[in-house]
Amino acid sequence: MTAPPLKDDCFALPPGVDWTPVEDALAVLRNGLAPVTEAETLRLTAATGRVLSAPVTARRAHPAAANSAVDGYGFAATHLPAPVQDIHTLPLHPGRAAAGAPFETAVPPGRALRVLTGAALPAGVDTVVLDEDVTRDGAALRFRTGVKPGANCRAAGEDTAAGATVLQPGRRLRAPDLALAAAVGVGEVSVRRPLRVAILSTGDELAAPGTATPAAPHRMYDANRPMLRALLERWGIEVLDLGIAPDDRPAVHAALARGRAEAHAVIASGGASAGDEDHVAAVLHDAGVLHTWRIAVKPGRPLALANWDGVPIFGLPGNPVAAFVCALIFARPALSVLAGETWPAPLAFTVPAAFSKRKKPGRREYLRARLDAAGAAEVFASEGSGRVSGIAWAQGLVELPDGGLTVSPGDPVRFLPYAGFGL
Ligand code: AMP
Ligand code: MG
Repeated sequence: MTAPPLKDDCFALPPGVDWTPVEDALAVLRNGLAPVTEAETLRLTAATGRVLSAPVTARRAHPAAANSAVDGYGFAATHLPAPVQDIHTLPLHPGRAAAGAPFETAVPPGRALRVLTGAALPAGVDTVVLDEDVTRDGAALRFRTGVKPGANCRAAGEDTAAGATVLQPGRRLRAPDLALAAAVGVGEVSVRRPLRVAILSTGDELAAPGTATPAAPHRMYDANRPMLRALLERWGIEVLDLGIAPDDRPAVHAALARGRAEAHAVIASGGASAGDEDHVAAVLHDAGVLHTWRIAVKPGRPLALANWDGVPIFGLPGNPVAAFVCALIFARPALSVLAGETWPAPLAFTVPAAFSKRKKPGRREYLRARLDAAGAAEVFASEGSGRVSGIAWAQGLVELPDGGLTVSPGDPVRFLPYAGFGL
């Protein structure tokens, strides 16, 4: 695997910094990382979920020709005969224009032609009156005055000009993007290969869920690996599962080294602090590559970060709630950059609070939240970061700013829906 272009100190915080504000931590990630995946050309239909590595340019205008937006009758607005008692009467011209079956000759002034939705407007037609607004009387068409010139017509190029850049590099292709690219005649796109990320859980207490005999009560089921795998898969990332490493330095070293060799990045959880059994931090420290970030965030600190021979290693907290929040807030944008994507700011909107809270200054807080029937944000009863049920109960996070504040019901708060994190 080729080494990505990371500077050795890309994760270093400014000297003297102790508690790092979330925005500063994000800025270091944003500035320190660069795309690591190669480009390839794919058929459009095979490119869903991939990140564009080159702009998509319209091969022709959309629509290429002026056409009718409705089923109706087309004519030239300037040659409309004067109305009699507010009713226009126009002789019908023989033939019709349909989608894919244009009317090849010009429609004479003062006459109307049958046109169907999507039909290219023939010469002599610039206005279409809707089926529902006309009566037909033999070869004559009648309708009320007031049809605006140009009504029910789509102008050539009104959506997109030929040669225009319709999609920018760094965009992860979704269904509407495929529709747009196809509509402007693009059948192949230049995209990046998927990012490959290794995941590792660490801790002597961890047991894989689903074994026939329940694990002994002193053991914990590994909640983080299934969670991380699901997140990464949603983000279009290939997962290398490194399993569970015990609290043993050589074992953690071996697992991280395998991730470094076989993946573009590694996400470990647990063992990221500076305690006796915090082996992820210890291994990275011994390798001389550790940057421990005490991020001013709740839940979440600390976060271990390393650039190990050019491969970013993220050491998330072990608590599943903290691991989840850190994955959304820090790992997601970082991995997006590695994957060639534009830095994603989480989708957020302001809603009234359905809760009360007094918050001390100094740390940004993410509360597990959902919207009630009135669209107000309620939060999970407990803020304990071991309470996995809360992240499943929630539909998103309420983000409370770094400073102190008191929230009362009805106060505006920032709600970040899970959907905005690609979940
Ligand atoms: P650590 O960060 O290793 O000190 O772990 C903090 C807490 O998170 C401890 O209670 C661990 O048992 C728990 N924990 C660590 N990893 C996981 C995991 N993969 N799944 C569930 N709980 C975990
Ligand atoms: Mg541990």
